[in-house]
Amino acid sequence: MATAALLDAAGIAVDVLEQTERPSDRSKATTVHPRTLEVLRSVRSGSISLADRMVAAGTPLPATHFGLLPELLDYRNLDTPFPFVLMLPQADTEAMLAAHLAARGVPVSRGVRVDHIAGEGDAVRLSCGGPGGAHARTAQWVVGADGARSTVRRALGIGFPGTEPTLCGFIADVELDAPPAHPHLWNAATGSLNALPLPSGGFRVFGCAARDTGLDPVAVRERRARPLARGELRELMTAIAGTDWGLRKVIWSSRNTDVTRHVERNRLGRVLLVGDAAHIHLPAGGQGMNVGIQDAANLAWKLAAEIHGWAPTRVVTGAQSYQAERLPIARRLADNTLAQAAISMTFSPAGAALRRLLGDLIAQGGDAAGGIAGWLSGLDVHYPPPGGAHPLAGHRVPDLSTEHSSLHALLAPDRFVLAAFGGPVPEVPVSTAPAATVVPAATAKKWAGLTLGLVRPDGHLADGWPRHPTPETLRSAVACWTQATSNRQTRNPS
Ligand SMILES: Cc1cc2nc3c(=O)[nH]c(=O)nc-3n(C[C@H](O)[C@H](O)[C@H](O)COP(=O)(O)OP(=O)(O)OC[C@H]3O[C@@H](n4cnc5c(N)ncnc54)[C@H](O)[C@@H]3O)c2cc1C
Repeated sequence: MATAALLDAAGIAVDVLEQTERPSDRSKATTVHPRTLEVLRSVRSGSISLADRMVAAGTPLPATHFGLLPELLDYRNLDTPFPFVLMLPQADTEAMLAAHLAARGVPVSRGVRVDHIAGEGDAVRLSCGGPGGAHARTAQWVVGADGARSTVRRALGIGFPGTEPTLCGFIADVELDAPPAHPHLWNAATGSLNALPLPSGGFRVFGCAARDTGLDPVAVRERRARPLARGELRELMTAIAGTDWGLRKVIWSSRNTDVTRHVERNRLGRVLLVGDAAHIHLPAGGQGMNVGIQDAANLAWKLAAEIHGWAPTRVVTGAQSYQAERLPIARRLADNTLAQAAISMTFSPAGAALRRLLGDLIAQGGDAAGGIAGWLSGLDVHYPPPGGAHPLAGHRVPDLSTEHSSLHALLAPDRFVLAAFGGPVPEVPVSTAPAATVVPAATAKKWAGLTLGLVRPDGHLADGWPRHPTPETLRSAVACWTQATSNRQTRNPS
């Protein structure tokens, strides 16, 4: 739905197909990181953005954890309008996205299951099933946002390599009569147990028993397939913490594993993959939904540009394409979550030593803490600069204030911003060919030693200049990002 909302914001007609007939009230994700809120500012109804609505509904927390360490990463000084982690159940985020799409007139067809897809000339044919019966649809483009078991990914035969699961954790939303004073508990012999307060009251209890680690994949799958009954949850909690914290009610429960995979490619012809369809991992640090929405922000403007006919080759198949920029992020996500599994679920003296060492580094608040916070928050996620561009190209530009508003408020998936950092805005080069809109803006102060920058629709720097470039340099830099470079055919999957 986030991809649909961002494509709609770029003027693309979208249809959402969803196999379930009703939204789920089970929230997997609860944590929303700052960069996700930043990119959802581009999803607007009137003057209110989806990010505004989410912040109004959620609970901001000043800090977050890495690998469940008690020494927290402080978000309060991050350079963003959202210097906090927002606790908001995924069901609420999805409901707000659904309401936004409904208000915009974007159709969401529920009870429609995609069973197969195949390329058909310049289009993609979808074979669908569900309560409404079997039928076929045709789309010019398809974005597979269909989760870990993605039918779209399988239909395309895209490889999904990774590491097999070695552990089986547990998770439940519960009501507790005697919640713990501290949310994280490790018992070197028996496992870990955590209880985080939920915005709606109640607690999210999760952890892993030491006996459920170091397993072979078959044993993990067997364990994962067994429903987690209330009695077993109580027994697990008591074995690890010596108490069930007054477990009164189990709202829902599940198990998770550290199986970690990402796609070999996230695009084939006119079909693209986002979110869990492209990467799966242990839920650690609240990242899957966040990285998925950030995938969508990278994808939407590029796909819209391609559909509108002004996309330069660099963003379609080149070094700044969705695939080139987001596959490395999926790899980092895999590493990051596997590292958190090692930190939080190694029940041995070595595991305890690792936790002490990392905890000390985070408590010192230096570069190590800053680097981890930069990744988790999404604010330091950046892409390699194109050859010949300023070294900061590919970095996120912060939300600098402008005379009437701020830089991020000007961003949208259908336009670039030519930002004069603390000075007068030069004339924006005008193109006669189909091209992206380029909006001028003057920020109140300089940024990173630059006087001028071309900012991409997703808020990353396309190119920047310490001194004002000549009109010719500026014209060619703007053209190479905002104009199609050649006529090209996008080959379809067969
Ligand atoms: C316990 C737990 C806690 C988590 N906590 C966090 C957190 O705090 N923060 C965070 O960022 N992430 C968290 N995550 C991860 C997050 O929930 C996922 O990364 C996120 O839901 C992925 O979104 P998605 O849209 O890619 O896939 P999904 O949420 O799986 O959505 C896919 C949708 O596609 C539909 N679908 C599937 N196949 C078809 C088909 N063939 N035809 C039509 N429709 C189809 C499904 O019904 C579903 O609605 C957590 C995960 C778990 C398990």
